[in-house]
Amino acid sequence: MATGKIGVTSENIFPVIKKFLYSEQEIFLRELVSNAVDATTKVKALSRKGEIEGELGDLTVRVKVDKDAKTITVSDRGIGMTAEEVDKYINQIAFSSAGDFLEKYKDSIDAIIGHFGLGFYSSFMVSEKVEIISKSWKPDTKAVKWSCDGSPEYTMEECDKTDRGTDIILHIDSESTAYLEDSKIEELLKKYCMFLPVPIGFGKEKEWKDDKYVDTDKDKIINDTEPLWTKKPADVKEEDYKTFYKKLYPGTFEEPLFNIHLNVDYPFNLTGILYFPKIRTNLEIQKNKIQLYCNQVFVTDSVEGIVPEFLTLLHGVLDSPDIPLNVSRSYLQSDANVKKISTHITKKVADRLSDIFKNNRDDFEKKWDDLKLFIQYGMLTNEKFYDLAKNFFLYKNTEGKYFTFDEYKNIVKENQTDKNNSVIFLYATDKDEQYSFVEAAKSKGYDVLILDSAFDAHFINQQEQKNTDVRFMRVDSDTIDKLIRKEDAPKSSLTDDEKKDFTAIFDSQTPKNTNKNFTVEFDSLGADSLPIMITQSEFMRRMKDMGKIGGPEMSFYNNLPDNLNLVINETHPMIQSLIADAKAKTAEAAAAADKDLKPLKSDLESLEKLTKDKKEEEISTEEKNKKEELQKKISDAEAKRKEIFTKYAADNKLVKQMIDLALLANNMLKGEDLTKFVKRSVELLGK
Ligand code: ADP
Repeated sequence: MATGKIGVTSENIFPVIKKFLYSEQEIFLRELVSNAVDATTKVKALSRKGEIEGELGDLTVRVKVDKDAKTITVSDRGIGMTAEEVDKYINQIAFSSAGDFLEKYKDSIDAIIGHFGLGFYSSFMVSEKVEIISKSWKPDTKAVKWSCDGSPEYTMEECDKTDRGTDIILHIDSESTAYLEDSKIEELLKKYCMFLPVPIGFGKEKEWKDDKYVDTDKDKIINDTEPLWTKKPADVKEEDYKTFYKKLYPGTFEEPLFNIHLNVDYPFNLTGILYFPKIRTNLEIQKNKIQLYCNQVFVTDSVEGIVPEFLTLLHGVLDSPDIPLNVSRSYLQSDANVKKISTHITKKVADRLSDIFKNNRDDFEKKWDDLKLFIQYGMLTNEKFYDLAKNFFLYKNTEGKYFTFDEYKNIVKENQTDKNNSVIFLYATDKDEQYSFVEAAKSKGYDVLILDSAFDAHFINQQEQKNTDVRFMRVDSDTIDKLIRKEDAPKSSLTDDEKKDFTAIFDSQTPKNTNKNFTVEFDSLGADSLPIMITQSEFMRRMKDMGKIGGPEMSFYNNLPDNLNLVINETHPMIQSLIADAKAKTAEAAAAADKDLKPLKSDLESLEKLTKDKKEEEISTEEKNKKEELQKKISDAEAKRKEIFTKYAADNKLVKQMIDLALLANNMLKGEDLTKFVKRSVELLGK
């Protein structure tokens, strides 16, 4: 029997392996089974080349757990190893010390590509002793048994294994006994080995015999050796993709919308199938469902860093030996291969969507509502995808019809271009809540889009930046004539002083103590419109909408109150009669107030004329004091004058009633205010 030291000069490489190389202990099983599969694949290749004669026999890789002996055994009938090979591949670890090992690891990433590094040694993460019993396929070679207890010392001796292949026997340490449960091993095999290209047997198929289940002779095979993505797309039927989806996500009932079968072998290797799931809300739970494989070995279901963020919303599998899997995520992003793969996938996804859009627009439109969020996410976060997707991104109008940007622009251009030559895209975020505005726009011959997704506020901002001749306006952001201004606004019939008085009337009755600020405006909307309307400026509202999902820099807007306009329709008969009534009832008091006010104002005017051309230091203290005194008196008198109008408003139930009607039309009248409104309505109706 030979003894020796594994070619590592530092005290012990195993703690290093444990700490640095493998974050997840459980991958030891993946490593051992992958090695067994590699050895089997190699034996098949030798047989094909005629180097091995005769039948290869059963090639199933078997995993066994012996709870009593506390061992896990992975057996294969692959190429096996001679004593020299064990020495070369297992003993002479190509690193001379732990420090060197780490150094080397950093620089030899390319060498690690396609491998899992020091795969075999990961078994020491869970074992107190590991044995290799192997017999090479080469004729006239002796079987060898290698044994090591996790220190750099090993033993090696001849043994009497007669069958070709390798058994790896792990003596599980006391901390890792959880791996001695069949259910745990089966779970790991299903996770990592589900699609390996050689059958993996774990236990036996059972049959019902004499009132109980008993083992049969047949191996229970864990894996599907020819997963769908390894087949040629031309050989796969639509149904097969659906069945495979269910296999990947057993708990899912939803069918995917479409799929893409990836099959590239130059300049990098990539196969896989990506599925578009239905996405309406809840982006987070959809994320990170893509499974990443390396030559059919499961590696991870976190593809972050490998595909652009928005593509992590897709489901399915990617298989590539060209993705360096043992490196950090930040390194991945800068890797040239990964960049190419990422660009390729982005383009494929866009191409697939574009194909369906072009060849089967009906189907595309049917699925659009479930696709929109995904596509918007892509367009907002990925410039390359934006350029490809802008041609098939669809806008839906309130009638349920779909248009591309260009189609829509052409349709509305004639009727919805404003005096500055901007084409105005009108939209509603909620057809019911903004019903009266949508109707008003339609009756004017305008078209209205529905933009109700979480990303729409950001998206239309992006659209406006990219298409400077188009502006988006929510239907309730202004009164109908001002939404799309075709000419300058008509002159108001009210004087500035009158406006001030009537502003006091309406302003005093707007809701107070809410997070809404109202600004009173006057407009001539005609007898068919409501007497009072509430609008909200597009800019501020959109900023707030963006704030709801945008990062911290947007939360500033989110915390601002809503700034609303209370638009008084001065051409509505109710408003006109109110104005007439108010004028009549306040005339006397207002005249009295003016009597005080007018002389004060003319005094101030003369004083200002006198000091107009003087420099600050030339104005005497006396003049300054006088001015201050006058200003104070004026503001007191004005406040008194204003009181006349607020008092009028308080006594006239119609003012409040009309404002409440406007609030009601905008879904803003709630709770106590609503109850008061109903009571007041009953009173008014009873008159
Ligand atoms: P890697 O698989 O990345 O090369 P490992 O440490 O897992 O690294 O294995 C080292 C080498 O040992 C393999 O390249 C292979 O030559 C040999 N080996 C490991 N397991 C087996 C096996 N089951 N059958 C034959 N050779 C094996």
